[in-house]
Amino acid sequence: MRKGLLIVFTGASGVGKGTIMKKLLAANPNIRLSVSATTRAPREGEQNGREYYFVTRREFDDLIANGGFLEYAEYVGNCYGTPSEPVFRMLDEGLDVILEIELKGFFQIKEAYPECLSIFVAPPSFEELQARLEGRGTETPEVIAERLKTAREELAHHHLFDYVVVNDDAERAANEVLSIISDRKNKE
Ligand code: 5GP
Repeated sequence: MRKGLLIVFTGASGVGKGTIMKKLLAANPNIRLSVSATTRAPREGEQNGREYYFVTRREFDDLIANGGFLEYAEYVGNCYGTPSEPVFRMLDEGLDVILEIELKGFFQIKEAYPECLSIFVAPPSFEELQARLEGRGTETPEVIAERLKTAREELAHHHLFDYVVVNDDAERAANEVLSIISDRKNKE
């Protein structure tokens, strides 16, 4: 059976990756989202095993020591990592797997799997991103400031990705991502 496509999805915190992702998953049953492990506290409404596996720093370090991660990185004071086993299993089953990860994770994946499809999700403007992060109200002003600083650094690397998709409208952006994925699969 043909193996699935490994897709990296990177973009600033608050850029709307989650909303685009929900639309992708609803539109294409062959696409799966990898569920990461993180040491950050769950936000209201987040469920263990659905948005993330919420783990302690100790559990995270054990996973690193056991070679359980495809990639991992620290982001604004917390650790995030992609558990390898489910990703390999889904790819073997022919499913296309999206890793929604930050920039350092992307570098690791690009190095190990240069054939991956990488998409950078950009905000229509930096002001818009700031407004979205502040409006979400899930982080303290200090954390928002840190996340915006990181977002600027990430934005400066957008040219390293195969595609940049501007999230001016989630429906339009999701459709653009769907056609990028199907074009790539048709070429293989
Ligand atoms: P948040 O705390 O807003 O859910 O995520 C913060 C950042 O961590 C986002 O840019 C998100 O894409 C990234 N992230 C989530 N899971 C992973 C992961 O498994 N690995 C890496 N490297 N980044 C991740």
